Amino acid sequence: MSNTALAPFAAHADRSRGRRYPEADPVSRTQFQRDRDRIVHSTAFRRLEYKTQVFVNHEGDLFRTRLTHSLEVAQIARAVACNLRLNEDLTEAIALAHDLGHTPFGHAGQDALHECMKPYGGFEHNLQSLRVVDALEERYAAFDGLNLTFETREGILKHCSAKNARELGDVGQRFLDRRQPSLEAQIANLADEIAYNNHDIDDGLRSGLLQLRQLERVPLFARHSAVVRAEYPALAERRMVNETVRRMINTLVVDLTQESGRRVADAAPADVDGVRSAAPLAAFSAAMRQEADELKSVLHDELYRHYRVMRMSTKARRIVSDLFAAFLGEPRLLPDDHQKRAADDAPRAIADYVAGMTDRYAIKEHKRLFAIDG
Ligand code: MG
Repeated sequence: MSNTALAPFAAHADRSRGRRYPEADPVSRTQFQRDRDRIVHSTAFRRLEYKTQVFVNHEGDLFRTRLTHSLEVAQIARAVACNLRLNEDLTEAIALAHDLGHTPFGHAGQDALHECMKPYGGFEHNLQSLRVVDALEERYAAFDGLNLTFETREGILKHCSAKNARELGDVGQRFLDRRQPSLEAQIANLADEIAYNNHDIDDGLRSGLLQLRQLERVPLFARHSAVVRAEYPALAERRMVNETVRRMINTLVVDLTQESGRRVADAAPADVDGVRSAAPLAAFSAAMRQEADELKSVLHDELYRHYRVMRMSTKARRIVSDLFAAFLGEPRLLPDDHQKRAADDAPRAIADYVAGMTDRYAIKEHKRLFAIDG
C-alpha cells in the first residue's frame, strides 16, 4: 500500500521517529517493511515454531505453536489495518514480533521464570520481546539487536511497570504519561486476542480436553454454531466447528473494524500523535467485548484449568525453575557465550538463556543436567 492511501492518523513510514543507531534509508522498501523483514530473519522468530501457548510442543502436530499463532495474529491485524487505512506493514511487524520474548511452555514457563527472577528485577515477556529485538539478536555487524524503528518497538511493548518504563527511555515514556501507542499497535494487540481465543477453541476440541457442550454455553459460539447447523444439518462435527470458528473470527474482525472506525471518526485525531494522546481508539463494541469476555472465561475454567493442562503446566514450571536454579548455583554449567554474559549479571543472563529455549530444548537440557543416565 502506498503512503498516499493511508489515513492521516496512520503511522507513516517516512515520518518514523527513527532507529536507535542511525542507518541509511532502505532503497526498495519502507522503514516498517525493513523492520518486518528483520524480524522474519531473526533467530528468535524461528524458535517460535517450537514454543507453545497451551499445549506442550510434542503433544501433537496439529496444535498451534507460537509461530502459527503469530502468523494468524499478523493476518487478522493486517485485515483490520487495511480496512481502517492504517499502516499494514507496521501492524504486521508488531504482530510477528509480539511473542519473540516468550519462554518455553507458554504462560506456565513465563510465571515460573518471573518467580525465579523476582529478587533480580522480575521477568516480563513483553519486555523480553523488546530485549530480543533491542539487544539479544546477534545478526548485524554494526549493532546488537535488530535496530528496529521506534514505532515497531513501541508496539511490541504492550505493558510495562513504571519502574521498568523509567529505565527504558523513549518507548517507556508513554506508560508514565498514560498515553496510547499507535493504532497499528492497538490493532495488533486485539488481533492477538481474536487469534488465541479462536484457536484455543479449535485446539481444545481437537485435544478432547474441551467438549462441544461446554462451548455451547458461550453465546458467541452458540449463536454461530446454530446458524451453521441450520444451514448445513448434515455437516460432520469437525467441519461444523471449523465453519463456526471461521464465522466467529469474521464477526470479531468486522466488529473491531466498525467500532474502531466509529471511535476514530469521533476523536478525529489529526495524526499519529493525536492517536497517542486520545483514549484507546481500537476496541470491540460493548456487546462484543462482553461476549469475548464470556468466551475467555469458559476457556479459562474448562481448558486452562483442565487437569491434563495443569499437569503439563506444573511439569513445565518445574523444568524452568530447576534449570534456573542449577545455572544460578553454578554458572559454569552455562554454554560458553552465555557464561560470558553471566559474568556481568548472572541472573539476567540465565533468564535470557532459559527464555530463549524452545520447549523441546528445555526438556533436553533438563535431562542433561538432572538425569543420572542422561
Ligand atoms: Mg500472542
